[in-house]
Amino acid sequence: MRVIIIGGVAGGMSAATRLRRLDEHAEIIVLERGDHVSFANCGLPYYVGGVIAERSSLLLQTPESLRARFALDVRTGAEVVAIDRDARTVGIRDVRTGAITQEPYDHVVLAAGATAGDPLGGGPGAPVVSTLRTVDDVDRIAAALAAHPEAGRDARAVVVGGGFIGLEVVENLVHRGMAVTLVQHGAHPMSPLDAEMAALVVDELRAHGVDLRLRTSVEGLDEAGVHLDDGTVVPADIVIDARGVRPAASLAVDAGLAIGPTGGIAVDAYQRTSDPRILAVGDGVEKIDAVSAEPTLVTMAGLANRHGRTAADAIAADNGLLGDAPEDALPALGTAIVGVFDLAVAMTGWSEKKLRDAGRAHRVIHAHPADHAGYYPGAERLTMKLLVDPTTDLILGAQVIGRRGADKRIDVIAVAIQAGLTASQLNRLELAYAPQFGSAKDPVNMLGYIADNAATGLTESIQWHELDAVVADGAHVIDVRSAAEHEAGAIPGSANISVDDLRNRLDELPAGELIVHCQVGQRGHTAARLLRQHGRRVRNLDGGYLTWFAGQQMTVPQKNVKELA
Ligand code: FAD
Repeated sequence: MRVIIIGGVAGGMSAATRLRRLDEHAEIIVLERGDHVSFANCGLPYYVGGVIAERSSLLLQTPESLRARFALDVRTGAEVVAIDRDARTVGIRDVRTGAITQEPYDHVVLAAGATAGDPLGGGPGAPVVSTLRTVDDVDRIAAALAAHPEAGRDARAVVVGGGFIGLEVVENLVHRGMAVTLVQHGAHPMSPLDAEMAALVVDELRAHGVDLRLRTSVEGLDEAGVHLDDGTVVPADIVIDARGVRPAASLAVDAGLAIGPTGGIAVDAYQRTSDPRILAVGDGVEKIDAVSAEPTLVTMAGLANRHGRTAADAIAADNGLLGDAPEDALPALGTAIVGVFDLAVAMTGWSEKKLRDAGRAHRVIHAHPADHAGYYPGAERLTMKLLVDPTTDLILGAQVIGRRGADKRIDVIAVAIQAGLTASQLNRLELAYAPQFGSAKDPVNMLGYIADNAATGLTESIQWHELDAVVADGAHVIDVRSAAEHEAGAIPGSANISVDDLRNRLDELPAGELIVHCQVGQRGHTAARLLRQHGRRVRNLDGGYLTWFAGQQMTVPQKNVKELA
């Protein structure tokens, strides 16, 4: 059996090595157009920032090491230019000589990744522009920074695109001492987040001196710098183009393979394309969305690696080498995490915005628990959001942001979604606890308690963006925090009666619907329960003042928010 693997990094190399473990006798040829295989794409931004000091740390394997351990025939500088399905050959261009050769195959695994969009064009004298996808890219960036008199210090960088890679590059260029401007087309960086969650990212970037230009696009580059569509020009020594990627599907298109509605290569649950001899994995391939069961694009390393293994299993099974049916690829949740300076920003499943845009019913829960017991030194606040199907109580998505502990909470929730747990069942998870690691009621349990209260109708809640409308309809906002907290910052028009005084001051409350709120939602829940049992129509402001304030930050002009603060 002769298997040709196109692309020698995440998905391709996972397929190659898994296949070797299953089949000692197959001929496995890995064709990679670049100079390096199996390099650490995810580490590239940290090499730019000097956090990873040695370039060699990025190069996890070489063709020689892969030959020694896995008997792989790994060829670099070998670009596949065509797949002839009738002849069952691939055409290979030697990148160094331009010579074209043909190689026959029994199976192909297409793992060509993603490509950046159209390059940002620059006129004469324009700053160096680079994407950040390959070792060549980091070499280009390192050379440009080294050309600066102080090797990067005090140089000016413009990063275009505030997604995962853009944010990692921003952090790393700041780490190098550069003045960094981030240009983001949308209303906030990290577009999969909801606005009130992204407010934390915005704050963190600004706190580290990043010049953030939101709702702005690049119009052109010249010797003056980067011209933005708001008429400003940002001087730059280097520009990093991190505007996002699209599936590298041209080989598949030319070979007549089915392409899905997202533009990614269409595959079945075993990574087979419309031609079962050709399998495809990684960023170039469409996935099935775990929430909608519709095709989607998710460009993450975990899926590329996992699906590489699935493809190898499918090939082995086709050749009678796997006793059982191969494991199918599960639908994708899009679980992801990114570091933004001191914050970890993590998400899984769908956001509120995505659910709303899709017209899908959802319940929203915010919580702001400490990452570990408050009495133990060093506790940091987590900001958590859970999206729940109000009919089934199943979890549709989550976002967790914090300085500590966001990673494990998002992973627990991602596991819960995959296991089909309901949101309320999060309160029953038995999670590890000692004061320096968590709480007896872990933050994930807290989400479960809130979800259970909502599902059973114990407390009704209202979202920050719904408040103005209910107040306009005559509802009254009661701040149940302490007078000092109210004094430090309050929702305009709210009256302050501390939860501890509420029982004694019931007769002071205005008639009509009441919206109670505290700082994070917990005292608000207690107040709402108390008032409900005294016959009042009451809702608790979900996530409390903190969530409401973060929402204002992203929707109200900055001037007003400063006044509110
Ligand atoms: P790749 O790993 O990109 O490999 C594709 C390879 O195919 C490339 O080497 C390319 O040269 C080669 N190729 C393309 N066309 C041809 C051809 N015609 N002939 C021969 N070879 C070809 N994901 C995470 O989950 N977490 C992270 O922290 C994270 N950080 C990232 C940081 C950066 C800077 C980048 C660029 C990506 C990051 N990712 C991260 C995404 C992750 O790296 C990708 O999802 C994953 O590498 C996709 O695997 P793949 O096999 O599809 O493509």
